[in-house]
Amino acid sequence: KANRAFHPDDSIIDVQGNRIGEGHVSVIAGPCSVESEEQIVEIARDVKASGAKFLRGGAFKPRTSPYSFQGMGADGLELLLLAKKETGLPIVTELMDISQLPLFDEVDVIQVGARNMQNFTMLKELGKIDKPILLKRGLSATMREFLMSAEYIMAGGNEQVILCERGIRTFENATRNTLDLSCIPLLKKKSHLPVIIDPSHATGINWMVESMSKAAIAAGADGVMIEVHNKPEEALCDGDQAITPDEFDKIMATLKKYAEFE
Ligand code: PEP
Ligand code: MN
Repeated sequence: KANRAFHPDDSIIDVQGNRIGEGHVSVIAGPCSVESEEQIVEIARDVKASGAKFLRGGAFKPRTSPYSFQGMGADGLELLLLAKKETGLPIVTELMDISQLPLFDEVDVIQVGARNMQNFTMLKELGKIDKPILLKRGLSATMREFLMSAEYIMAGGNEQVILCERGIRTFENATRNTLDLSCIPLLKKKSHLPVIIDPSHATGINWMVESMSKAAIAAGADGVMIEVHNKPEEALCDGDQAITPDEFDKIMATLKKYAEFE
């Protein structure tokens, strides 16, 4: 079902009138994690003013260490919905375990994180629901594995899948991951699904977000997902890759010279 050979036309994923994959660049922005009402509402207002069309923020966080901040959980989801009420921005947030699904009724786009890309039980369950899924590429997943994971969701009937490249594991450790830009033309040739790039997790370095976003757009990405924090130095998760709302605003102004955003 993800195969371009059987679906020559590009798929467009409609999220409350925001269409991903329609030719313009869709921007998803927000903090790595929801930390407080003040934080998420302030960031939501700022990124919206700069042109973001979706608010991201993790409530359930997949952290390497069990002693790190694990996210606010259900309370974090409540705060995301509050930020949505304040701004109208649809919400993108990660589901870490299928048991959490009943809490996600009002979430607009469910994110499957890199670590869950091959959680086939979860993918099958997400295939049964009627909601867009943002599927992140696994840390060392091949293109075939990535597309097969999309296929797991689509096989169940839910064809609203957005593919997200977030950097892969290579020998290089100067950046957090290695952004595989060649996946954009490849995925768009092999599949009809929208492809977005996450330059924040791909590099792990705030000052690289702008250039990698430009590169993603030049290579034909349907969107970017960018981590923005009002106080990056105090962020409970991924502060090094977070840009401030002011920096986000400048980047958006630059990117608008290269592409259409609506
Ligand atoms: C995230 O988007 O915050 C995240 C945890 O991403 P990934 O699954 O790509 O590491
Ligand atoms: Mn993050």
